[in-house]
Amino acid sequence: MVWSFARIRNELIALGAVEHVSLSELTSFHVGGDAALMLRPQSYDALKCAIDLCRQAGFPFVLLGRGTNILASDDGYDGLVIRFDTPLHPPIYFGTHVTVCCGMSLMQLARETVANGLSGFERLAGIPGSVGGACAMNAGAYGGEIKQILRHIRVYRDGVDAWVDVNDSDLSYRKSAFSFPECIALEAEFALSPDDGTAVSVMEDCMRKRREKQPLTVPSAGSTFKRPAGHFAGALIEQCGLKGYAIGDAQVSPKHAGFIVNNGHATEHEISRLILYVQQTVLEQTGVSLECEIKRIGKEEPKCSC
Ligand SMILES: Cc1cc2nc3c(=O)[nH]c(=O)nc-3n(C[C@H](O)[C@H](O)[C@H](O)COP(=O)(O)OP(=O)(O)OC[C@H]3O[C@@H](n4cnc5c(N)ncnc54)[C@H](O)[C@@H]3O)c2cc1C
Repeated sequence: MVWSFARIRNELIALGAVEHVSLSELTSFHVGGDAALMLRPQSYDALKCAIDLCRQAGFPFVLLGRGTNILASDDGYDGLVIRFDTPLHPPIYFGTHVTVCCGMSLMQLARETVANGLSGFERLAGIPGSVGGACAMNAGAYGGEIKQILRHIRVYRDGVDAWVDVNDSDLSYRKSAFSFPECIALEAEFALSPDDGTAVSVMEDCMRKRREKQPLTVPSAGSTFKRPAGHFAGALIEQCGLKGYAIGDAQVSPKHAGFIVNNGHATEHEISRLILYVQQTVLEQTGVSLECEIKRIGKEEPKCSC
């Protein structure tokens, strides 16, 4: 059966979707045109139902957490953007294990677990995404990463909602088997350990280092590039004289060359041109190829190798 746009639109609106939402408001880069429809699911059933409807109708959809690792197209997205950034229930503690909704903020979870005398999240406390986004990216910082503590995950995959064990090979540097579009992470169970009395100071130390070294007051999507083996992307970019280099309002951060920032009205087009310029220059001058860490959404074909 062929679905009309009006039919799928009405079905998604009945689930709580709204029309014409700016992607710049849904992403930390503050860049991007309008999404045709946007849904913030208020239950796991609503989330699964929206996905099933889109699949049945052949209607495009994309999943966001808190949009902190995303570069969205200036042309917007002609489909449904699902923003899963609402904790559908509070964390459930069982000894040193905690089970959480993937819509929860990672920062909030980190602070809460540390306050509850548990160790495991303290190095990740400054990562501004959702728990689902962190599992999808295998987020990490200062020697900590999601892989070290994620034990079980509830995923919606191929129409099946199931808890699965996490194996060593499921997660690697900024890569995960639990990422959209392969699957949707719904809940996650983490194995933490009793705090030996250092968790608060480790967390505060990591947060201080971030404030000192990263451009946290300007919109960005965090580190633009993955860490190339044996190097640091920021150091290579700086070595090539590109720290502070700008195209329009898109700029290689003068504070940390590993971040591209939006100084106000940067467009996705400007950011893409800057990414490409940085990649080409670093490759020519150092022989190292930089791979994007940020993900793209939108109808445009990537203009750079993200
Ligand atoms: C200032 C700043 C600092 C940052 N520092 C760090 C850092 O130290 N370490 C680090 O690793 N990252 C860092 N990031 C990047 C980003 O915060 C992380 O990648 C984060 O884990 C992304 O989570 P999110 O919810 O925002 O995901 P989004 O950006 O919304 O999505 C990222 C990807 O995950 C997928 N996804 C999201 N939710 C789910 C889900 N429930 N199920 C399946 N797939 C999903 C999306 O489809 C997309 O492909 C930083 C970003 C900023 C802006």
